[in-house]
Amino acid sequence: MEKEMVYDQEFSIITKDGVEERFNYFIFEDTPIISYNKWESSFYTNFEMQGWTSKDRPDFADKGLVFIVSKNDPMLDRCAMYHELGHVINNHQLGSTGRLDKVTDGVVSPYELEADQHVLMNMGRKKTLIWLESLMEYYTRETKLRKQAKEDGYLQEKGLLGLKKLYLGREEVKLRIKYL
Ligand SMILES: [Zn+2]
Repeated sequence: MEKEMVYDQEFSIITKDGVEERFNYFIFEDTPIISYNKWESSFYTNFEMQGWTSKDRPDFADKGLVFIVSKNDPMLDRCAMYHELGHVINNHQLGSTGRLDKVTDGVVSPYELEADQHVLMNMGRKKTLIWLESLMEYYTRETKLRKQAKEDGYLQEKGLLGLKKLYLGREEVKLRIKYL
């Protein structure tokens, strides 16, 4: 059983709309690992990209930040952490523009592969594969739900675009498994 991640510190972010939000975090390899539950998946970002500031941790402005959306499984959460940390320590560019463009041609972003290698190095192949397969399951499940909504005539333009992104996301994970 994997050790649970303990977010035992707190800080606040002031968003670009001036709203203050508190977060729990811990520092790992000089990087803030922050607990987050608003989005579906974990990600990395920084203050500059988001237009954030912080009163209690202004020093975080120079750092890559890892946000973990917990899957209620310490092993999966740890894999996600190493993946996002892989982006941070390799200084990968922020934002995902164009990332899925070449997926249908069988080309996957080298940043994703490099971040996956960081998981592999720290968690081993077996756990890394279980984690990637859990991502596949997520995409498969969401794609199915939206396809059904499309057949039932509930999907509008935005939903159709979402369906395409989910499909490409699934194809991307397939490639990431292939190149692991
Ligand atoms: Zn990534």
